[in-house]
Amino acid sequence: MKILLNNQALIKKIRPFSDIGFVPTMGGIHKGHISLINRSIKSNQKTIVSIFVNPKQFDKIKDYKSYPSNINNDLTILKRIKKLDYVYIPKFKDIYENNKQSNIKIEKKYKILCAKFRNGHFEGVLDVMNRLTKLIKPKKIFMGEKDFQQLFLVKKFIEKKFNTKVIGCKTIRNKNKLALSSRNFLLTKKELKEVEKISNKFLKLKIKIKNIREINRFLQKSKKEIENFFNIKIEYLENRSIKNLSKSNKYKGSRIFLAYYFKEIRLIDNF
Ligand code: AMP
Repeated sequence: MKILLNNQALIKKIRPFSDIGFVPTMGGIHKGHISLINRSIKSNQKTIVSIFVNPKQFDKIKDYKSYPSNINNDLTILKRIKKLDYVYIPKFKDIYENNKQSNIKIEKKYKILCAKFRNGHFEGVLDVMNRLTKLIKPKKIFMGEKDFQQLFLVKKFIEKKFNTKVIGCKTIRNKNKLALSSRNFLLTKKELKEVEKISNKFLKLKIKIKNIREINRFLQKSKKEIENFFNIKIEYLENRSIKNLSKSNKYKGSRIFLAYYFKEIRLIDNF
């Protein structure tokens, strides 16, 4: 595994290859990231992982500053993946210097879910994905369904503009069914147990809505109940079509999307 610390090193190493699989991350590497890396290794000649905590996608400076990335830890984990070729760890200037300011906008109809609550977040994500894709020219990009709205928007944007496929990969959960997330590293053991309980409460809704007609009305009611029971603030709890993210009362072809704050930590899931 070669570590590439700037664009010169990156370009020199990867240019000879046309069949590159790319896994963008913000570090805090866990088994969710590793599942994407393994998918890429299986289907591409070379695999590159990036670690870059992109300041432009954070709407709150505190959230950016406390983002749980630990490069040494990450490298120790990544080195164990025998067939991983490259880790790219750019500096801010590698991504943003000599580049025009972005004018990427999210369509109004997609200003829902996280886009509604995190101002400028997806504009920042699309901007960095645009820059990374231009640089790396991957054949495929592997992203998690854990961040379904991100996967949806990036796929739409990148596949229209580049000769690159964006592949969605299923959400990896721990043994108690909590979706793995770098933000879980911010939780104490006791808090993790509590979050697992909350997560299971949400997951049970998926069974409950099977025989319900007005799914979103039911979820509105459940939202209040869960907020009161666990003393948490839920930003959204909605059933939406996986095709176009519009609100849906159908069980099939839809997912429940949710975001909530546990103390100061914002967690999301969908299933
Ligand atoms: P992040 O480092 O959080 O920006 O995530 C980098 C990539 O890993 C994104 O495509 C995420 O959707 C994906 N990812 C994060 N958590 C999981 C998970 N639990 N299962 C699968 N993919 C994940």
